[in-house]
Amino acid sequence: MYEPTTGGLEDRSTNPPSISFATHGVAPARPEPTTFSCRCDPVLPADSIGQRSETVRRANLAAIVRELHVRGPQSRSELVARTGLTRTAIRALIGELVAGELLVEERRPLAGAPGRPSPLVRPKPAAVLVLAIQVAVDSLAAALVGVGGTPLERIRISRPRGHFSVDEIVADLRDLTERLPVRRHRHAIVGVGVAMAGLVRRADGMVSRAPNLGWQDVPLGERLAAVLDLEVPIFVANEADLAAMAELRRGAARGADDLLMVWGEVGVGGGLIVDGKPVTGAAGYAGEVGHMSVNPAGRRCGCGSIGCWETEIGEGALLRLAGRPDDGGSDEVDAVLADAAAGNARALGAFREVGRWLGIGLANLVNILNPRVIILGGLFAQAFPFIDRALDRELDRTALRGPRGLVRVAPAGLGIDAPLVGAAELALEPFLADPAGWLGPRAQLAAAAGA
Ligand SMILES: [Zn+2]
Repeated sequence: MYEPTTGGLEDRSTNPPSISFATHGVAPARPEPTTFSCRCDPVLPADSIGQRSETVRRANLAAIVRELHVRGPQSRSELVARTGLTRTAIRALIGELVAGELLVEERRPLAGAPGRPSPLVRPKPAAVLVLAIQVAVDSLAAALVGVGGTPLERIRISRPRGHFSVDEIVADLRDLTERLPVRRHRHAIVGVGVAMAGLVRRADGMVSRAPNLGWQDVPLGERLAAVLDLEVPIFVANEADLAAMAELRRGAARGADDLLMVWGEVGVGGGLIVDGKPVTGAAGYAGEVGHMSVNPAGRRCGCGSIGCWETEIGEGALLRLAGRPDDGGSDEVDAVLADAAAGNARALGAFREVGRWLGIGLANLVNILNPRVIILGGLFAQAFPFIDRALDRELDRTALRGPRGLVRVAPAGLGIDAPLVGAAELALEPFLADPAGWLGPRAQLAAAAGA
């Protein structure tokens, strides 16, 4: 089954409340079902009251599961404080989630603490899983990830650079996923998320352009659905967009609501989160910061334009400045990094120049977007110790004082896995928005029996 428009970020732009991946993990305090018996409530037909009560129940279940997913295991008291629900409501809802085998409660070992330890609520391992896939320039990766973001198993293999057909990449991805225990856990898998180094149309997982593979208009989501043999939705998105989501939830940008991610490899991509919500644009193509025109007298870019930002800060630019072949790939980049670490003047100069151009582009973005955090990923995270001073200097010189004073620039905390982690978050989102739909009738019966 291929359901490209079921949930996922595509819906986020039109219906944020259902899937906003609350960066604080706290759903707004919601009315308790008992509120509906209040005299000040308008008189509603019995059916409407039942529907509203069911809507509230589902929203409260979602608030608890999301809270545990984002912040990790917690006591009931912590959940009361964070969700705004009453102790009684938390007890009933957790009872339902435990009966549905989605959560477990266990005693928290507190060394030296007097009294009975309070039970800690946590997602049951492997009860709900997603398959996350990453198609990067130099590697392919796959992971089975559960609620809470912990990978059950993860695998990454190097791949040679060059143009490959969709048949070849899809066959490699199928082989890779077969090395994970997908078959054993297939009934727990609720979705597949794919992070793609390329321009992706969110609605149907169409890869409009992936220059490093030589792809144009490749229906990757559809092709994967045909070989993975999993009857769950598949969501495909751009790697930098997903890396931004991952860093916000689990990496170096935790707690920030306004985030710009700049991901550098051969090309340079961007991911933008404003007020806690990903900005995807009309079709999912937003954030292509690598193709900002910064140097009209510069070099021709792979996109056909002249002087795009990535021609000044991408891998090719770094290698050229360091006196190495600009198509040398990751081995040459590693050599430049090693030279810089050893104090080699040419390598350090190359990084300084990349840092300067990075600062020029970032100053524009800071002035336009006023982000709280800029996360530099991929090549820029590795190069951070060698570029940060030139970058800071350029930002100080060019960006407006107000937004410049508010922004923090940091390397990605999740490394090369950031897009993979983001792919898992994307695939989990429909489940997090309505875990009651997954719990099904069994948990409702259990709740009714316990009431
Ligand atoms: Zn370009």
